[in-house]
Amino acid sequence: MAIATINPTTGETMKVFEPLTEEEIAFKLGLAQRTFEQYRHTSLAQRAEWLNAAAKILLDERNHFGKIITLEMGKPIAAAMAEVEKCALVCRYYAENAAEFLKDVAIDTDASHSFIRYQPLGIVLAVMPWNFPFWQVFRFAAPGLMAGNVGLLKHASNVPQSALAIEDILLRAGFPKGAFQTLLIGSEKVAQIVEDDRVKAATLTGSEAAGASLASVAGKQLKKTVMELGGSDPFIVLESADLDTAVSTAVTARMINNGQSCIAAKRFIVQESIAEAFTEKLVAKYAALKVGDPLNPETDIGPLATPTILKELDAQVRACVKQGATLLIGGDPQIVSTKSIVALQHGNFYPPTILTDIPPDASANQEEFFGPVALLYRVPDIDAAIQLANSTPFGLGASAWTQVSEDRDRFMAELESGSVFINGMVKSDPRLPFGGIKRSGYGRELGREGIHEFVNIKTVWVK
Ligand code: NAP
Repeated sequence: MAIATINPTTGETMKVFEPLTEEEIAFKLGLAQRTFEQYRHTSLAQRAEWLNAAAKILLDERNHFGKIITLEMGKPIAAAMAEVEKCALVCRYYAENAAEFLKDVAIDTDASHSFIRYQPLGIVLAVMPWNFPFWQVFRFAAPGLMAGNVGLLKHASNVPQSALAIEDILLRAGFPKGAFQTLLIGSEKVAQIVEDDRVKAATLTGSEAAGASLASVAGKQLKKTVMELGGSDPFIVLESADLDTAVSTAVTARMINNGQSCIAAKRFIVQESIAEAFTEKLVAKYAALKVGDPLNPETDIGPLATPTILKELDAQVRACVKQGATLLIGGDPQIVSTKSIVALQHGNFYPPTILTDIPPDASANQEEFFGPVALLYRVPDIDAAIQLANSTPFGLGASAWTQVSEDRDRFMAELESGSVFINGMVKSDPRLPFGGIKRSGYGRELGREGIHEFVNIKTVWVK
């Protein structure tokens, strides 16, 4: 895949980048290693000062960075700027809390003195996706740099300007040259970097296929990895729920990022007794959503990031209908392009879509739909809801709506996922660990757990 900015709204190729040569890759790896040997001895206070400076740059220039994001991957401009602000938040969070997370932990044993010390590992490779091109990187970089590691970023090939902007922000903030470098390379170069002795660990956010590929290379080298992969999160609504709030949140939870979020609610599992009312309200809200130019502040949903994603989503929806599902709204990219102005006709637009009556053996039940498509199911009771929710290969997040405390307890205990949100949508928050189980991956980002993924948890025992 070419490393290029191709505006998803117009199809225009705006900037193409040459991938790094072998010599350039070797130089950057050498620089990263030399920098690590010095950087690991910098104080936490110094690192925090640099990270706070990065937060300030992000906030001061949010309009500029927001525009880069929207032009590269198509999310509405307000959401792009909110993403930049969230990056500042995660920088400040780790600047403030890393010293506490990384301090020695005393443990009573038969020694006169025994404790845990957290030490950096070295170079960590981050392979990142385009969907939150700033946030995914900062949620790795902020804890990693505070822990004393140095980072190499292999970003998705369609967001090179975001990737370069992030390296520039961290440099301008004061981090030493080499503490965080962007590698403009294709995915075929990832294996050789993971295999390099100087690279100690890797993290990947993206598809199952990419995750499995990197994890197997790292496994052969016995290197630690964290995998943040796909999801098909359930959004369960029982009859005791506040219906209006649940429906409004359902729309936001599915449509966030033009429907291209790993933790978007993708399967709506509604109790039979309220299913009619829920469906009616959901369809009405979908019909009112404005699809169009993401730089227009009135737009709710911009284009999908690439023509391939559009093609794949379209094929998934068509297959589901062919297998017996009913379309309640949307379902055809033409619905958008015929309504849109000429300039948008080359964009990757897909309309808000709801599929229901999905047969139990339909492939959709086992897949991730990465776009504005909701799968709607009816169930008689909480037992059926939990069973259906757990019946996919994924286990990222889950949202469940009920006012009954016994039901809440069952959701917390029985839903197979990395997080459960009761009466709210699944979202990431610097203070809370984030990650999945099953084929959604392993390991955690954010919170205390996130900074401990890439450190040597050294046991010290002194008699
Ligand atoms: P993707 O195709 O897997 O790409 C993600 C990154 O992996 C890109 O940098 C890509 O580089 C690279 N890559 C692709 N194939 C690779 C391989 N064989 N070896 C090494 N690297 C490889 O995923 P995507 O389409 O960009 O992102 C969508 C997926 O990410 C969805 O499944 C979504 O749910 C998941 N996601 C998960 C989380 C989470 O936190 N759990 C968050 C966001 C997204 P190129 O661009 O050069 O191909």
